[in-house]
Amino acid sequence: MDSDAPPSPPATETAPVVVSGIQPSGRLHLGNYFGALRQHLDLHSQHEAYYFIVNYHAMTSVQSAEQLRQHTFDVALDYLALGFDPNEAALFIQSDVPEVTELMWIFFNLIPTSHLEKGVAYKEKVEAGLSPNAGLFNYPVLQAADILAYGGSVVPVGADQKQNLEMARTLARRFNNRFCPEDDPLFPVPEPHILDHVSVIPGTDGQKMSKSYGNTIGIFDEGDALKEKVMSIVTDSTPLDEPKDPETCNVFALLQLFTDEARQAEIAKQYRAGGYGYGHAKQELLGLIQDHFADARARRKELEQRPDYVRDVLREGAKAARTKAEPILEQVRTLSGLVRTR
Ligand code: ADP
Repeated sequence: MDSDAPPSPPATETAPVVVSGIQPSGRLHLGNYFGALRQHLDLHSQHEAYYFIVNYHAMTSVQSAEQLRQHTFDVALDYLALGFDPNEAALFIQSDVPEVTELMWIFFNLIPTSHLEKGVAYKEKVEAGLSPNAGLFNYPVLQAADILAYGGSVVPVGADQKQNLEMARTLARRFNNRFCPEDDPLFPVPEPHILDHVSVIPGTDGQKMSKSYGNTIGIFDEGDALKEKVMSIVTDSTPLDEPKDPETCNVFALLQLFTDEARQAEIAKQYRAGGYGYGHAKQELLGLIQDHFADARARRKELEQRPDYVRDVLREGAKAARTKAEPILEQVRTLSGLVRTR
């Protein structure tokens, strides 16, 4: 049986297992924070949760070994500085859990290449100048393995990841349908957890903010570097005195992340009235970013002095992750006919 039907039972019948990954391909940015990280932090103390720094995924775009190493620790520092509590959930490095790449190979055999060719994220990344290597092409299959190796059922991600997550849902069903008794599926069909009110967050050039596109405003950027980035946000050339449309403005889209509805309505009114320039909006945004992350910035500086602690957190996280993944992979091997002699 190789169709996607019948559907497996909804993931909600058992206690949720929350999983999500973040690429160490550059410093984390506002898109990562408001699209994903904030949810990760909200959920990690409420449920069993596994958050991984996806260094294999980052290899699809980062060519320098030194940079990959550095970014990997930077992401760990960012999480801890922003409030991740290692006593509540597991934070670890993807490549510390070899079960994931093993599962990816098994999944490769359940999905035709034509399915991957339709991937929007792949096409967009290649159009943006990334090398069309096989890693980039197979990215969603590795992502599916990442999720399902831990029996993940809830995946807090940004709105940009909706299609990629379909791969994990498809592969969960295909594996269950091909290898499991109908009434005893192995994998839950994972559900994305996307915040309704947050759409894809634009970068300084108006495209999706992404480490791969060089258009980010970093969570921990400060001083002149932060100011330069905020001031470089692309706007149209409507003169200061004339009315402006907040709905099409990249600065307004970012301001909305930091302000409540009342303040948003006030700013929108100022835009429409004229006499309020993009420079004013950018100044306000700059101040809001500085204030919002001030405490986390201070905590990050302290943590930078404690590399051994950060390593310990990641090591313990990987231990917990392997403890979760090993029995699942053992079932995968048995069900799919992989004979093991040890
Ligand atoms: P990047 O594209 O910067 O490499 P990742 O692929 O590491 O980001 O994504 C990590 C998480 O951040 C994902 O859950 C993703 O959905 C979210 N995310 C990344 N960029 C954005 C964005 N511009 N808007 C909303 N969410 C985003």
